[in-house]
Amino acid sequence: MIDSHCHLDLLAAKKDLHITLQNAKRAGITRIMAPSINPRSWQALQALSEQYEGYLSIDTALGLHPYFLVDCDYSAHSCETNNQTLIHNLEQLEAAVAHLHPSVKAVGETGIDGHINVPLALQKDVLHTHLKLADKTSLPVILHHRKSHHLLLEALKHAKYQGVGIIHAFSGSIEAAKGYIERGFYLGIGGIITYERAQKTRNTLAFLLEHHFDKLLLETDAPDMPMHGRQGEPNEPCYLSDVIDAMSENYDVSHKEIVSTTTANYAQLFNINC
Ligand SMILES: [Zn+2]
Repeated sequence: MIDSHCHLDLLAAKKDLHITLQNAKRAGITRIMAPSINPRSWQALQALSEQYEGYLSIDTALGLHPYFLVDCDYSAHSCETNNQTLIHNLEQLEAAVAHLHPSVKAVGETGIDGHINVPLALQKDVLHTHLKLADKTSLPVILHHRKSHHLLLEALKHAKYQGVGIIHAFSGSIEAAKGYIERGFYLGIGGIITYERAQKTRNTLAFLLEHHFDKLLLETDAPDMPMHGRQGEPNEPCYLSDVIDAMSENYDVSHKEIVSTTTANYAQLFNINC
C-alpha cells in the first residue's frame, strides 16, 4: 500500500525515523510520497529518498506550503509577493524544478488555507506560481485545502491549469469532489474517515467508491491528522491500515481491492510502476 502524503521531515522531528520506516514496511507500505513545506525540506527529503533506496520507495515533491508563508515577513508589504525571502524562495523553487532530483514526482505542497493568518491574496499568488511550474514541467501538483474548495477551483481556472494532481486529505461534499475530478484531479483519503463525526465526507466517499474509485489515493498526512483512537500521538505511515479498515468496515469493498486499486491509481497518476 502507498501513503500518498506523509511529511517525513516533520515526522523525523518527533519520532525515530528509521524505526518509523521499519514499522511502515512491516505494515505493508511499499511507497511514500513526501511533499515538502519549504526549501530546507527539499534537500532533506531528497537525501532520505536516496538513503532508503532499495528498502522503501520515497517520492518527493517541491513546494512552499501555505503554513510556511507564516514565516515570511509579508506584513510590511501587505498582500504583495514582493517580500524578499519569498521572492528568493520562489526563485529557488524554479531552479530546483529545473534541475529535477530523480525522486521528485510532483510540485507541492501548495494550496489555500482559509484558517491561517496569511493574506489570501498572497496564498493565491504563491499557488499560481506553483501551478505554472507544474504545467511547465508536466508534474502533478499536490494541493492543500481548508475552507477553500471554491478558491482552489477558481485558482485552477484562473491559471488555466492543464495538468493533474492530488487534493490531499480530501474532505467535503460530492459537488466539491466532482469539481476536482472533472479537472483530472485525484483525491487523497485519510484519517478523517476514521471519525464517525465526518458524516459528510463519509457520504461523499460512498459516492466516490461507486463512481470514481479510479481517482482515490490513500494517505496519512503523518505526523498530523491522527487516526481515531490515536489522538495525542504523532501519526505514522503504518497507521494507514486504519484508513483501509474504516473503508472496508463502512463500505462494500475489501481490504485487498482498496490496496490494489489505490496502488494502481498512484502508478497511473505518476506514470510509474509500483
Ligand atoms: Zn501536507
